[in-house]
Amino acid sequence: MMRPSEKEGLSASPLMWTADRPSTVFVQGQGSWLTDKEGNNYLDFVQGWAVNCLGHSHPALVKAISEQAGRLINASPAYFTDRLLELARKIVDHSAMDKVFFTNSGAEANERAIKLARKWGQIHRSGAREIITMHNSFHGRTLATMSASGKPQWETLFEPKVPDFVKVPLNDIEAVRNALTERTVAVMLEPIQGEAGVIPASREYLSALRDLTSREGILLVLDEIQTGMGRTGTLFACEQAGIEPDIMTLGKGIGGGFPLGALTAREPVCCFEKGDQGGTFNGNALAMAAGLAVFEIVSRREFLEGVRRKGEYLRVRLEDLSSRAGQDRVRGQGLLLAMGLDSDGGPRIVEEAFARGLLLNSPRPDTLRFMPALTVSEEEIDRMIGILEEILVRERFS
Ligand SMILES: *Cc1c(COP(=O)(O)O)cnc(C)c1O
Repeated sequence: MMRPSEKEGLSASPLMWTADRPSTVFVQGQGSWLTDKEGNNYLDFVQGWAVNCLGHSHPALVKAISEQAGRLINASPAYFTDRLLELARKIVDHSAMDKVFFTNSGAEANERAIKLARKWGQIHRSGAREIITMHNSFHGRTLATMSASGKPQWETLFEPKVPDFVKVPLNDIEAVRNALTERTVAVMLEPIQGEAGVIPASREYLSALRDLTSREGILLVLDEIQTGMGRTGTLFACEQAGIEPDIMTLGKGIGGGFPLGALTAREPVCCFEKGDQGGTFNGNALAMAAGLAVFEIVSRREFLEGVRRKGEYLRVRLEDLSSRAGQDRVRGQGLLLAMGLDSDGGPRIVEEAFARGLLLNSPRPDTLRFMPALTVSEEEIDRMIGILEEILVRERFS
């Protein structure tokens, strides 16, 4: 059942067209639910692409943003604010990283990570500046982060790209070893490739990468923009692999829906000099207040235990459904899960689900991705499974 797309339904919209959106207009959100202009409710298993980790309009986040807005919104990156210092301290205290630079998005955090690695290579590795990245990886949509990404569809888009990214297949340590030269300064990857369809880097591979990069004296950069902030059941996914990167980037969940990202690094890597970095909105007090409210909740032990418990529940329910509906297996960790499909029916299933009041995502035609709020309830998981089951059973037998 085709919904009128933005192109057809809202063709007079002054918005620049870049994607087909349903013509539905959302006006309100609460927890795992979105409401449209007509008053219809939708169960949201997209949550802004794994962004709204506390769900829509969580009271603690609303309170923090409202109160901060009334006190101080922005003091300029030229000055400290109480909130800026507090959030940086929290991140450092809860991670293996020593220093933080705040950004407004994930791509911006990765862009800064690339700059930091290049600067470090200039100072410590005779100008080495090549970064090894992974096939099918996703690091953002600025020109440099697009160049770092391994998305096949982007290969010829917006040429010329930023040079000096060398791409290798994921989970192949030999390929990294073979790509390594004296020009290499870093290896950069996602612990679980999100946009590629939830493809995990194996524990052994991450551990081997840590050993290899340390031995070769180059940097290991982890893009935890999608996997960080509790999404996989620990505050950061690298904790489960038992490794510590040299540089780690954060985004998505860190602001709980408020635009925020962060470049974090170990002390010896921090070689920016005065004037090397900056940005008008970086570290503004309002974003910091949002980040603090999210961090205080997500970093609690009981909260992370809840993510692991609900992630396990979702996985079991998906595996059960997948085997009954003749679909492929379930991948991922915590509340970042995907179901492989035995066909390219992903986009059609997403459309069907939308018509039944369920928001789902298909990052690849043969994959459904599940990234609910970390506060999702088991009843909401059951409800999602119920709707998906109706669709999959019909898909299979129609
Ligand atoms: C979403 C994402 C980005 C880009 O973040 P934006 O905030 O959209 O710029 C980068 N890397 C990964 C792994 C992501 O999932």
